Amino acid sequence: MTKVLRTIAELRAWRNALPSGSKVGLVPTMGALHAGHISLMDLAKTHCDTVIASIFVNPLQFGPQEDLARYPRPIEKDIALLEASGVDALFLPEPTEVYPSDNSTFVVEEAVSLPLCGALRPGHFRGVATVVLKLFNLTQPHFAFFGQKDAQQCAVIERMVRDLNVPVEIVRGAIVREADGLAMSSRNVYLDPAQRAAAPLLYQSLLAAFEAYKAGERDAAKLEALGRATLAHEPSIAIQYWEVRDRSSLAPLQTVGNDGCLIALAAFLGSTRLIDNVLL
Ligand code: AMP
Repeated sequence: MTKVLRTIAELRAWRNALPSGSKVGLVPTMGALHAGHISLMDLAKTHCDTVIASIFVNPLQFGPQEDLARYPRPIEKDIALLEASGVDALFLPEPTEVYPSDNSTFVVEEAVSLPLCGALRPGHFRGVATVVLKLFNLTQPHFAFFGQKDAQQCAVIERMVRDLNVPVEIVRGAIVREADGLAMSSRNVYLDPAQRAAAPLLYQSLLAAFEAYKAGERDAAKLEALGRATLAHEPSIAIQYWEVRDRSSLAPLQTVGNDGCLIALAAFLGSTRLIDNVLL
């Protein structure tokens, strides 16, 4: 049985009752769970004795024009999926439980959170870092699991953990994709049939660059031009960014060196914003 914990008091009491030697893993999510999330639960089980998932659609990481209100919240289905995957507990708080009405303390990472999604979604990573540190303080995990799907989020959390000496080991899980290559996302349900049919092109644009890289291309501008050209003839896809970056600092690159790179993109299909990436 997955124990559903809705308040901080319940969570703390449950956490404190765990055996002291128990290795605890946390998988933070916003719910609307899919196989990508479940792969993180499975990964957590291989590292930990006890797995806690959280489902919290964190208002602090959504901009005023973003999809906070319409974000899918199929909570009964989510709980059934967590049960089936053997997760021990689910932290499922209301926003008022997480943030006091006069909350005035935030976590701001000031380097890797600046480019890419950070530049386009002001305040997003401040919201992410703040809620993740709170979840770490509440659940006191030994390990926490994050998807490579959100590569910049992983980089921000890893930097926060290093800089603030947070005693949690961060583990990244691989991107889980649909059969046609589209990265699984809770936001894919927003796509209409035509957009859904076009969406796999996003991954194909990354693969086009990957193929060129395998054939020896190291010029970042050429890889970018190639990827962007793959999407140029699809009118339903509006690229926000499509970039070749240093895999840890996320700084722009002119030439891909021996330690490879991250290629990351964000694009709108109608009003739906999707992200994807590959590590070369
Ligand atoms: P979210 O509910 O979108 O906040 O995602 C919760 C966690 O699941 C994050 O660490 C994501 O990176 C991860 N995640 C989301 N989609 C995928 C995917 N397709 N493959 C692997 N992990 C994912």
